[in-house]
Amino acid sequence: MATLWTRLTDPLDQLWSVAYSSYPASLIEFVVIVSVQFLAFWVPATIYLGIDLLFPAFSNRHKIQSERRQPSWEQIRHCIKHVGLNEALGVVIQVLIRNAVGWDKTAFLVTRALPSLSTIAFDFVFALIAREMSFYYIHRAFHHPRIYKYVHKKHHTFTAPMAFSAQYAHPIEHITANVMPIVLPLALRRAHLLSSMVFVAFELWEAAADHSGYDFVKLPPAQIHDLHHEKFNVNYSTVGIMDWIHATDTVGWDKPKKVSVD
Ligand SMILES: [Zn+2]
Ligand SMILES: [Zn+2]
Repeated sequence: MATLWTRLTDPLDQLWSVAYSSYPASLIEFVVIVSVQFLAFWVPATIYLGIDLLFPAFSNRHKIQSERRQPSWEQIRHCIKHVGLNEALGVVIQVLIRNAVGWDKTAFLVTRALPSLSTIAFDFVFALIAREMSFYYIHRAFHHPRIYKYVHKKHHTFTAPMAFSAQYAHPIEHITANVMPIVLPLALRRAHLLSSMVFVAFELWEAAADHSGYDFVKLPPAQIHDLHHEKFNVNYSTVGIMDWIHATDTVGWDKPKKVSVD
């Protein structure tokens, strides 16, 4: 197993060795984060949008919600522009933090050695649980009637989501709900940059898939988050564990239960 892993990661190891010996760790970290953020979200989101545009008959057959609920091309264009601005904001914030703390410091562990398979697996499970818990409570707080209209309403513009709408959110929500629950737990325990980026890439792909609106997306099923957009007060988390714990995984959980009178 170890030999197979070494053989599979050999090209990456050589590339990493050249980068590590040629550039400062913080610059490598900055470039890797920005590249992963861009590639792991824009590539799958563009593929899902491509299916919408190039194969409309197939798309209509496999969209979870009806054709009349699907966003117009005008809304899609506006969404993509807004997503670009949110991502640019993420880059600007990174630059400002690095300018403030110094470009010699890194948020993640950057070492010459690549993380082992067991380290990647441990970081992944840790980050998945931390993200599930933190995102659930932040998301649910954004649904509080007193603050909903100021921040989270924007994300719910799309009753029938499409891949890019995963990052169609108020900038405050983008940073506190989309970015921090994914990045912060790994940064706080100084996980290796590369194992952290495996998780970040997975989450970005998953966000695009979750919002794709397609019934064939099964890991996790896009139906879970699609139903949140359709019915609003259900399925706040992404994996579903926190919804199961808090019994918010069924439509109508917040309505008073009917009491049978004999
Ligand atoms: Zn919501
Ligand atoms: Zn959503």
